[in-house]
Formats: sequence, structure tokens, C-alpha cells
Amino acid sequence: MPPEQTWAVAPRYVSVALTNACELRCPYCYAAKKPARLGAEEISPWLRELNRNGCLGVGFGGGEPTLHSEFATICQKTAIETGMAVSFTTHGHRITEKLATQLRGSVHFIRVSVDGIGETYERNRGRAFDELENRIDLIAGICRFGVNVVVGDTTVWELDGLLDYAERWGAEELLLLPEQGVAGRAGIGESARNEMTRWLASHRPSKIRVGISRMADLSGIALADAFPMEDRLSAHAHIDANGYLRADAFTDQRIPIQGSVIDALTELREAA
Ligand code: SF4
Repeated sequence: MPPEQTWAVAPRYVSVALTNACELRCPYCYAAKKPARLGAEEISPWLRELNRNGCLGVGFGGGEPTLHSEFATICQKTAIETGMAVSFTTHGHRITEKLATQLRGSVHFIRVSVDGIGETYERNRGRAFDELENRIDLIAGICRFGVNVVVGDTTVWELDGLLDYAERWGAEELLLLPEQGVAGRAGIGESARNEMTRWLASHRPSKIRVGISRMADLSGIALADAFPMEDRLSAHAHIDANGYLRADAFTDQRIPIQGSVIDALTELREAA
């Protein structure tokens, strides 16, 4: 094992909420509702610092990151200025030919939120499922991509179908995000969680990677964990759209980034 003083200081992966804005109204949305956004010039030095300190990947989100007026510039700058893998999470409905062209070569992975099939998707997201499928074609032409599913009482029964769709679309991953308790909602219920656990243990073989968010209650779920000894802030940290560093998007504890992300990380580690 390399000596401890040579270990990376930065988290392995950092998510960044570029904006709190989103035009959809998903009932289980956890994004902050107070308007806020980060500018390209503001985050560029943070990302360079993370890169110098061993961070391997950055994931842009929100809100909806493609609503950010500098979104393509931010992805391009990050790809040019750092060696980190660039990914983003999106509802997909704002991906156009023009944006796809701007992003090609600057983004390494896209996570598309697909909460259910057909009518279930349309009830949850308020957008046509057919329209989503058109956007998936554009997304597949940008780079590798995966499908994210918020697992709740309606979507849990459609996991087989979602795995079929993900395969057909050419996705590489199906990532389950058990619904978190936010905005007066209780989060995933007991029967949905039981069904999800049963599905994870017994779904048909697939060439697609099936994963589950670390934010979930993982008890009783068999996992292949590549880094079982890794502490939380070495794995992941989150920068919110107000420029605060957090352990993840759901925790209240936060440290303002005043110049250095690593200084904020040290403060967050000491406060944890
Ligand atoms: S698409 Fe995402 S950010 Fe927008 S409302 Fe739905 S969950 Fe929230």
C-alpha cells in the first residue's frame, strides 16, 4: 500500500449543483427551491484544485444543469483544464442537436432520470415518454450513458421493464435511487423497499450494470463494494448551488467555500 501521505486529499467524486432551477415539478424532488446558481468562472478554480488533489470525477446536476446558460462552457472548460471524468444528471428534455454537438468530446457519462415507463413516467415527470425516447437518441450520440430511477411505490413495479428499455436504448447502467423523505413526503415505503430488495436479488441477468445509491438504507441488500473501508468524505462530497460544501445533497451541515475547496473539506471533516 502507498504511504498515507501520498493518498489523495480530495474526494474520489464531487457532485456540483450548478443551479437550483428546473422547469419540471416532480413530487419527490429534493433540489433546493430558492434560486441560486454557480458561474463558470467561480467553479473553474475549485475544479482545478480538486483535480490537483486527486479527485477523479465531477458530476454536474441541479436542479436541471442544462438550464444553466453556461452549461456547455462549464463542461468544455472542465474537460480542458482537468483530467477528471465529466458527467451530468439530467431529465433529458432540453438536449438538442446543438447542445449535443457542444457537449460531444467534453462529457464522459450522462445519467438520464427515467422514473417509470409510459403513463407512470408521465405522471411523475409531467412530460411525454415518447418525447423522452427521442431525447435518448440524442444523448446516446454524445457519450456513454446510464438510466437513473427514483424507486418508489409506483416505479418499483416497473424495474424489469426499465431494465429492458435501458438495454434497448444502449445504456450502460441502471441506477436505483430509493425515494428520500423530502418536502413532506415519507420516502420509499416498506413494501416498495421489500420489492426493490427482492428485485435486486433476483432480476434477470443483464449486460447492464445495476447499482443503488449510497444514500439508501442498504441493510439486507447484497452489494459488491469496491471500497468497503473508504470513509464517506473520501468517496464523495457535494457543492451546492450557493457555493457550500456538504457531504451530500441531503445533509444540512455545510461549509462555505471561500477560495479553497480543500480548506472547506478539511473544515467539514473536522466538524463531522
Ligand atoms: S427533473 Fe429533477 S430537479 Fe427537476 S423537478 Fe424533477 S427531480 Fe427536481
